[in-house]
Amino acid sequence: MIDHLGRRITYLRISVTELCNLRCRYCMPAEGVCKKDHSDMLTEDEMILAVEAAASLGITKLRVTGGEPLIKKNIVSICRRAAAVPGIREVCLTTNGLLLPQLAKPLREAGVRRLNLSLDTLDPEKYAYITRIGNLDTFWAGFHAAMDAGFEKIKLNAVLMGGVNDDEIPALAQLTRKYPVDMRFIEMMPMYDGGDFDTSAYIPYTKVLEKLPEAHPVPGDGGVAKLYRLPGALGNIGLISPVSAHFCAACNRIRLTADGRIKPCLHSSEEYSLKGMDFAGMRARLEQAILSKPAWHGDLNPVHRSRAGRNMNQIGG
Ligand code: SAM
Ligand code: SF4
Repeated sequence: MIDHLGRRITYLRISVTELCNLRCRYCMPAEGVCKKDHSDMLTEDEMILAVEAAASLGITKLRVTGGEPLIKKNIVSICRRAAAVPGIREVCLTTNGLLLPQLAKPLREAGVRRLNLSLDTLDPEKYAYITRIGNLDTFWAGFHAAMDAGFEKIKLNAVLMGGVNDDEIPALAQLTRKYPVDMRFIEMMPMYDGGDFDTSAYIPYTKVLEKLPEAHPVPGDGGVAKLYRLPGALGNIGLISPVSAHFCAACNRIRLTADGRIKPCLHSSEEYSLKGMDFAGMRARLEQAILSKPAWHGDLNPVHRSRAGRNMNQIGG
């Protein structure tokens, strides 16, 4: 479906849970989330109905996210059923990777084609600091399980935090020489709940290029990422700049939250509930949501914080 500004909406991101086995400082509060009533969340059948309704409007690509999608007990079944919906060409998943030793193979067999894994640092102490409770060895076990499971593509995502991990940009980029993966650096978005970062932590993607003088631009379509490559590398460097150079004019995505709300824009509080609806009701709401998609997300910086009204774990990134 095409929105009122001529943008073709083909990409749906589905958050399957708000809960997580980590507590990343830029994403959610230290105390975790107040668990919502089970009856307020979408059931697996409702998620699949929403995918069917979205596919009937031209959605072809799905990304399963969270919270942490792999803590959802029925995650393999959700992915398998979503991948089988007519019109859906690609199911991808974003995860912190911790549960991949058990789940990488079943997810690949269920039809998940691509994985994005979150990795902000190579330093075990910093990993524990950023995630508040995480263990970097557990991440690497998940990473290797994913490499062995035969996904078509694996991308690593690092959120840029000035004074925390900007000194590791070259070392993180080196992973593209060691493994056939893309390494993407994402500008930290100032979310609704402040987190504990001061203004200097929000650094632009251009800082990555300053630290990687060898990187050369790669022509082609990296989606929202500007692509670069180190000489001799096996994968690309991707730079994602939602704060310093937004890509709203080319935005092709909508989001579905675990409690059943369609968000036409990540940083807007406008939401359309699909909870409890049948196929026709969901389809009509989706159309309404797509037609109301804002032109851009408005000023986004540490002063003008996101107006999403939710933290990132409640949206899905
Ligand atoms: N738990 C999974 C994970 O961490 O990959 C999936 C959900 S997480 C919300 C999805 C993505 O959003 C992750 O790559 C995470 O780093 C990113 N993210 C979370 N909060 C962010 C923020 N404030 N700014 C930029 N990216 C953020
Ligand atoms: Fe959990 Fe992902 Fe948010 Fe980290 S970024 S707290 S792993 S949902």
